[in-house]
This record gives sequence, structure tokens and C-alpha cells, in this order.
Amino acid sequence: MEREIDMKEVSDGRLYGLRDMVKADCGGCQGCSDCCESMGSTIILDPYDVWRLTTGLQISFDELLQDKLELNVQEGIILPNMKTEGESERCGFLDEKGRCSVHALRPGLCRIFPLGRYYENRSFQYFLQVHECKKEPKLKVRVQKWIDTPDVKKNEKFIIDWHYFLKDLTASLRAADSGEYQKTVSLYILKSFYQKPWDLDRDFYEQFHERLEEAKSILKV
Ligand code: SF4
Ligand code: SF4
Repeated sequence: MEREIDMKEVSDGRLYGLRDMVKADCGGCQGCSDCCESMGSTIILDPYDVWRLTTGLQISFDELLQDKLELNVQEGIILPNMKTEGESERCGFLDEKGRCSVHALRPGLCRIFPLGRYYENRSFQYFLQVHECKKEPKLKVRVQKWIDTPDVKKNEKFIIDWHYFLKDLTASLRAADSGEYQKTVSLYILKSFYQKPWDLDRDFYEQFHERLEEAKSILKV
């Protein structure tokens, strides 16, 4: 979901594309796990994040909700986010050595950190969140290498389509101004994009776009 941010405050003033070099490589974190703690409900998961976790761990979305994920209302829509544990609000996937136990399956927001996404004109670019990771020195790395995401062009299209679908939906829910309708829509989104199993013999993105077209037609966004 979109947050209002002052780019002058949080970034180095630049926007980055996949082929750009960015000073984001913290060298394997070396004992630090700061960004996996005290994160509240900010690691919101998109359908591809949940697909990655459910297929990689061979577990259902509902099973993940038992202890690793939770649901919260984000701008009027119920979405899953990483659940935290204990006083330090650690991510449930952080192991006792302070390492991510699902590194290969980690969500998109964890993959890109300390980069963030800056959405504009129905697209997005990356920006460097200069105050988020204190580890120094950081090395320059190509954005595409850093985000470590296969089928990166398909993934970018998915990120854009999902982001703007939620944005348009939020606007339409606001206009409808009905709590009951909002709840019905949220349950539909959860069921259609998170709970309903994906066909593992087919491409995720192809199936996602089928479900997206269906959702747009049903919800008229
Ligand atoms: S804050 Fe930086 S160094 Fe620490 S775990 Fe996160 S990315 Fe790694
Ligand atoms: S999924 Fe891994 S990288 Fe992401 S917050 Fe949890 S422990 Fe950290």
C-alpha cells in the first residue's frame, strides 16, 4: 500500500531502475537483524509473497495464519502481514542466531530492503531508504542483483498491477462508504488472492492476472 513520504527526508534524492548501481549491499548483515525486529505490521504480503511461502514450505495460507502471519486492515482492505513475537517484536521467521529462516522465500519487501518502491504514474522505481539500515560501509550493487527476484520483468508488472488495483479499490470503497460492503470485498480479496490454492503446474503470474481480471470485473474497479 502507498504511504505519503517526503523523499528528501528518507532518500538520497535519487530513483533507481533495475540496471542502476545503488549503495545498498550491507555485506550479509553480519550479526545484525535490526530490520527483522520492531517492525509492527509493516511487512505486508502480496499474493506472490504468500505463493512463495506456501509452495516453498508446503503449508497453506490458513496454517501460516496460525503463528507466522496475521491480518490487519490496511487503508480499508484486510491484508496479511508478517506477525511479530516477543518484546522486541521479532519476525516469527527470525531464527535463534538472528538469521532469516526463510531467506530464499522471504517476501518482496524484505528482498529489496533497504530499498523501497516509489510509485508514480502507474509505475514504480526504487529509492534508497538512507536512515533504515545503519550498517556501514555499504557496497554498490546492481538493483536487479540486490532484489534477487526471478522473472523480474513479470514480477515488476505484477507489483504495479497489484498496487494500483488496491489503490483503485481503496478509492472505490471510500466512495461507497459502507462498512458491510468493505468487509465483503475484503473477504473476497483474501479468498481469491490468498486462500484459494494456485495450480502449481501453471505460471503464477498468468493465474494472478486471470484472478485480477475477474476481480476487476466483479468489483467494477
Ligand atoms: S538493518 Fe541492514 S545490516 Fe541489519 S539486518 Fe537489516 S539489512 Fe542487514
Ligand atoms: S521474513 Fe526473514 S527477512 Fe523478512 S522480516 Fe522475517 S526474518 Fe526478516
